[in-house]
Amino acid sequence: MIQFEQFEQQRSLKELTTFGIGGPAHYFIEVHDIPTMQLLLPFCHQHQLPYFILGKGSNSLFDDRGFAGVVIANRISFLHKLAEDTWHVGAGYSFSLLGSQTARQGWAGLEFASGIPGSVGGAVYMNAGANGGETGHSLVSVDFVTPDGEFHCLPKEQLTFSYRFSSFQNSPGAIVGATFRLEKMPEARQKQLDIIDYRKKTQPYNAKSAGCVFRNPTPLSAGALIDQSGLKGKMIGGAQVSPLHANFVVNTGDASAQDVLQLLELIKQEVKAQAGVELEAEVRYVPYQPAGAPCEA
Ligand SMILES: Cc1cc2nc3c(=O)[nH]c(=O)nc-3n(C[C@H](O)[C@H](O)[C@H](O)COP(=O)(O)OP(=O)(O)OC[C@H]3O[C@@H](n4cnc5c(N)ncnc54)[C@H](O)[C@@H]3O)c2cc1C
Repeated sequence: MIQFEQFEQQRSLKELTTFGIGGPAHYFIEVHDIPTMQLLLPFCHQHQLPYFILGKGSNSLFDDRGFAGVVIANRISFLHKLAEDTWHVGAGYSFSLLGSQTARQGWAGLEFASGIPGSVGGAVYMNAGANGGETGHSLVSVDFVTPDGEFHCLPKEQLTFSYRFSSFQNSPGAIVGATFRLEKMPEARQKQLDIIDYRKKTQPYNAKSAGCVFRNPTPLSAGALIDQSGLKGKMIGGAQVSPLHANFVVNTGDASAQDVLQLLELIKQEVKAQAGVELEAEVRYVPYQPAGAPCEA
């Protein structure tokens, strides 16, 4: 049974995101197992509490006022080998660690995950990708808890994945696990090491950011368009277009969500004016008061 006493109140969201931005969550709870998630989502529904499922907060920008609901941090973290080439992993497990662990053992398919500082659940939800790889490619199935607490193991064939999109973006509920099937490839480890090396050279890897803030308007590169618009280094308050990689906005110390949102708007306007291209955000802004409760932001 879930009780209100289990929630932490006024928990700062700054510490829970890689951007280091955001006010407090009215209620905060960490979930470490699937049965608790199955109780918690119906509890939120019953009490008309909007909720937001948080992984490692590496693609989320919380509002300066925080979140007027429950932030549920998914910490369901297990890793089991189901067969020689198949892994079952908890949604709270580090996606980067999964990528490097499997590559070190000579398995290919998730080498690109190395250096993506998200959770497995966040990677599935975003269909995270890099260097030609995507989360959806090697997925077999996803374990999912619906808002009324039902558990489903959804085969990939029932799901949709495309560039930084998964059908979970249109389905409230929580991803609690995923199963991946990989391919044996002796070069996987070297490929993974090259990927992390390239990342460190080309991205502000240790700065506070949420990675690339805009989707690439295929076949163009958002970073190149922003660079050509002369915005590298541009600052609003504490938010800056990274001088190293123009599609990264970094928090130089005390940036607010408003600083970041204003900078994103400026970038969109400049790129539209100069290149005629409409950029679309990849980073997910979480408003203080989600429209229509109870639901995800
Ligand atoms: C330095 C840096 C480099 C990055 N490089 C890349 C890259 O190369 N490629 C790439 O694609 N991304 C990249 N990112 C962005 C980010 O790491 C990915 O989008 C990642 O998959 C987000 O995972 P997360 O757990 O941090 O998600 P969060 O930020 O916690 O959440 C993101 C969204 O997913 C939802 N969500 C998270 N977990 C669950 C769950 N269990 N159930 C349901 N919904 C959930 C949230 O509600 C939210 O809407 C980078 C970020 C940084 C900071």
